[in-house]
Amino acid sequence: MSQLLEVSGISVSFDGFKAINNLSFSIGHAEMRAIIGPNGAGKTTFMDIVTGKTKPDEGSVLWGDLSRNLIGMNEAKIARIGIGRKFQRPTVFEDQSVFDNLMIAVRNDRSPLAVLFFRPKTKDNDKVHELASTIGLSQELMRKSGELSHGQKQWLEIGMLLAQDPKLLLVDEPAAGMTLGEREHTTDILKEAAKTRAVVVIEHDMEFIRRLDCKVTVLHEGSVLAEGALDHVTKNQDVIDVYLGR
Ligand code: ADP
Repeated sequence: MSQLLEVSGISVSFDGFKAINNLSFSIGHAEMRAIIGPNGAGKTTFMDIVTGKTKPDEGSVLWGDLSRNLIGMNEAKIARIGIGRKFQRPTVFEDQSVFDNLMIAVRNDRSPLAVLFFRPKTKDNDKVHELASTIGLSQELMRKSGELSHGQKQWLEIGMLLAQDPKLLLVDEPAAGMTLGEREHTTDILKEAAKTRAVVVIEHDMEFIRRLDCKVTVLHEGSVLAEGALDHVTKNQDVIDVYLGR
């Protein structure tokens, strides 16, 4: 698998504390990857660095054909070149319908009001319906987003991110607060998304990760502690000591 993202020797300190410590690993094109590790391991900081929110003290993050270094690029530019990020709490326009939320994302409008004033193009309409089908919300298109369940809001936000066609989607704890059925549907959505783009998921729920059926990277103290199939890393004594056995 050719590489899409190559993190190489990155370190970052906050007030002298090394949150990321010489971290190196890569993600392939259209690869699904889970990142696990104890609280404070550096998982969120890793995503902050890739999306340009935090600048590392050293190291590089190479992208695409690995000729571009993302370090130093601002967040807006990094989003434009194809990196989407989903935070834990869903952020959708609660007063607008599911359809309008998806349309806003498809058209990449800064103002949600714009969809009220311009007739959508047919191709944008088709794209909204296609996205709604991918996230399983075709029956909910006319509902106000604020009325959706927690799980449905999460799917809607994933749909809004997919509307931008990112090459890499970073997802932070998607299963948190979901029912078992919602978690299963979420893995299906992410697996579908990963057919055409890389998807990196931070998650603590081992059953969820098992269903993702992907390579797992275990972070600890800002570095990679172990990497491989879930069954492989969960048998690693270091991983049991710092994460699973507690
Ligand atoms: P994780 O997501 O794996 O729980 P984080 O990346 O959030 O870990 O945090 C790694 C370490 O860096 C933690 O000890 C955290 O307290 C620290 N940290 C993260 N961001 C900041 C910040 N902006 N200022 C100070 N310390 C931070």
